[in-house]
Amino acid sequence: MRRGFLKNAKQKHSKEGVTTFDGSRSEAISKEPKPLFAESPAGLVSTYQNDVGYKLLPHDAVDYGDDLIFTSLPISPFLTEKLAESPDGWTECLITGSRKREIFATPGFSKRPVYPPETRHAIRPSKFGLGVFATQDLSIGDLILTERPLLIAPAGMRMPGELGYLEGLSEEDQTRICREAWEKNFLKPLFDRFEPETQAEYMALANSHAQDNDGGGPILGILRTNGIEVSAIADPWDKGQYTAVCRKISRINHSCSPSAETSFDLVSFSYQLRAIRNIKAGEEIFISYCDGLSPAADRKKFLAPYQITCTCTSCSLDEAASDERRRGILNSVTGKEQSISHHFDSWFADRSLPDDYMIANSLRWISMIEEEGLQVSFAYMHHLQAMVRSYTALGDVKNAVKYGKILGLWHLSHDGKDDMLRELEDPAYHQRNLEWNSRHS
Ligand SMILES: [Zn+2]
Repeated sequence: MRRGFLKNAKQKHSKEGVTTFDGSRSEAISKEPKPLFAESPAGLVSTYQNDVGYKLLPHDAVDYGDDLIFTSLPISPFLTEKLAESPDGWTECLITGSRKREIFATPGFSKRPVYPPETRHAIRPSKFGLGVFATQDLSIGDLILTERPLLIAPAGMRMPGELGYLEGLSEEDQTRICREAWEKNFLKPLFDRFEPETQAEYMALANSHAQDNDGGGPILGILRTNGIEVSAIADPWDKGQYTAVCRKISRINHSCSPSAETSFDLVSFSYQLRAIRNIKAGEEIFISYCDGLSPAADRKKFLAPYQITCTCTSCSLDEAASDERRRGILNSVTGKEQSISHHFDSWFADRSLPDDYMIANSLRWISMIEEEGLQVSFAYMHHLQAMVRSYTALGDVKNAVKYGKILGLWHLSHDGKDDMLRELEDPAYHQRNLEWNSRHS
């Protein structure tokens, strides 16, 4: 998972006079087909218009237009009145009307989130400030915690209205003015929708931009520091992404060798945090804010705006050797000559190659990935897949199921869905495969 706040946003003036900081084009909005409603939306919905300020829309409004709206998802505080009466909570959202229509049209929306059978985490001081710790032994796929985000907002600043007066100013001044306007006109009204205790929880989160003096206020600073990507919701134009801030998940610290992964489930409108490898009771849980297969220098650059100087082994003691290993791991799945599919082609074509030709190759990479603590990477998934495919071709159902199960749990940790796990742990699934026992037939 990546931290999701766009940093290299460039200002653009489009034909309609809409100014954005993320390269989005307003003309793309109106071309988007409007999804049908699955059910009537409800909730306190308001929208901001430059000329009239905030306009409260009727609760039963169906057509919000395609502008950014303030709305509570998946349910309305109007229906439940108090947070205490809504065990799953809700999320204050600043999203486009078209996204809300699409969310409501998602089959099954909204169902209750799935929670761990018992509390498996604790938040307490760590050497990085506060951190999230495991309170029991966990292994890949285990659900650690579930929560609805506090808020969801665009990952880049989208500035509607005529901002022609910015022309002639330096880029730095333009950015400052836009940050001020974004905080005042969009983020503050979103924040004001929180209940007082939620406002206090939000303000207690880390803000690595507090001293920047760059025009942004505390709400934007906390959003930029803690925002995580919401890949399930994105406007269809260039960089129309959203970012979410969570009570607990936003407290999880970074490591280049993470032990857990998050996924967002649109239907229950919640994040799940799952273990991606073994975690011991009492261990701090880490996620990765950046691409772990990139070199240490690139990771440092990406983490700098979050005021993170990563001190994991791969970033400090062992940097050059770790870079070398990570480059090798990446190459083992993406390099042409070294790639898994290239090796499979050779193995299937040449019967003189040993039976364990593929298995030995992938086992070597799997153990290197485990030593680097990169089970979160797609390279791990590809090598697990290679193990399953090899044992399928060899007609070895016991080992196909063994590695299939780990592969299924990897997918469960990444997307919160267990459909692949159910297939891959079923012996008949492998025996039905067209490549079943093909190496021996
Ligand atoms: Zn690191």
